[in-house]
Amino acid sequence: MKLDEFTDARPYQIMCLICRLGRRGRAAYYFEGRLDGIQRKIRQNRDCPVCLRCNVESTFKFQNPGHKYDTPEGKLFNIRRDLTILQKLGLLPGSIIPAADLIKRFVRDGISSTDGVCGFGNNAIGCKFAKSGNYERGIKICYDSLIQIRSEDELAECKTHTAKKLYSRKRLDIRPHHLMCIGCVAGDKKTEDFKYLKEDHLFEVLEICRNNPETPIKLISGPCMICAPCPGYFPDTGFCSQNFCMGLRDQKKDIDVLVSLGLNYGDVLPAYKLFDLLFEKISSTAQICGFGNAIKTGPAWSICGGENKLDGSLEFKKARKAGLGIKGVKRRK
Ligand code: SF4
Ligand code: SF4
Repeated sequence: MKLDEFTDARPYQIMCLICRLGRRGRAAYYFEGRLDGIQRKIRQNRDCPVCLRCNVESTFKFQNPGHKYDTPEGKLFNIRRDLTILQKLGLLPGSIIPAADLIKRFVRDGISSTDGVCGFGNNAIGCKFAKSGNYERGIKICYDSLIQIRSEDELAECKTHTAKKLYSRKRLDIRPHHLMCIGCVAGDKKTEDFKYLKEDHLFEVLEICRNNPETPIKLISGPCMICAPCPGYFPDTGFCSQNFCMGLRDQKKDIDVLVSLGLNYGDVLPAYKLFDLLFEKISSTAQICGFGNAIKTGPAWSICGGENKLDGSLEFKKARKAGLGIKGVKRRK
């Protein structure tokens, strides 16, 4: 998709779209045709880039869309509503974000109610739908309703058949930071204590490496063999859309792992050598997943393992100490 194919939307229109999903009855929303158009594009393509434009007076004025789609509550209400939404989402005017990521942002840590955004407890002018409960109903169903997802049945079937395939592979193709995730889920557990996860193949890969430490692992970019049954992974595009902008920070983690190990995408090493090198060069998840200082610099850059936790994941440390239970991997303090 070219950059000029993005969908323009006022921040409030995304909120109204969600609100309309929770509508009971047929009361008309403002600019229904516009909402229909945005909805159609998002439903057709979960990754379609949405550009959030609103009218401001600052240096962000370059992206002002004009007042054509202002609703009748007045100019001040319209400007404030858009800015309040962006402030709550931690986004900027002119942000262009893939639809699935954007809807996730509204749902998780985003905006759960109209209160203070387009509806108010006092006599201040608010939207006619603000107290209808429509938005509060809509936010609960909007992701599944707007974004094409994989059904529970499909995911369960995928888990079974891709796990089976994995055990017969001669080589494993793994994205670099997932080698660390294996440490985080396994810690110092014995194979008989594994609780295989329905959303990935982390334990399966470790089991294969324990059974045969010589198993070649190729380092690849983007989602890997571990991702197949994850609800955030979409086989049709090959993209991960698990959490807000997850693909971005995962790419950064992958490259940071490669740089730490002095390796590159495409390199192939026996499992025991690769894990040994990993634990030699990386002693804490804070180094990679905390981006060095464990500080979240924005909504896209969340810290797996916890913000401000310079120690990183305890389970990873246990895994390092136990050499992940793989023969040939040194046990480290
Ligand atoms: S209550 Fe808020 S979200 Fe719902 S239609 Fe009105 S402005 Fe849009
Ligand atoms: S902290 Fe890092 S290594 Fe551990 S599970 Fe999260 S992303 Fe994976």
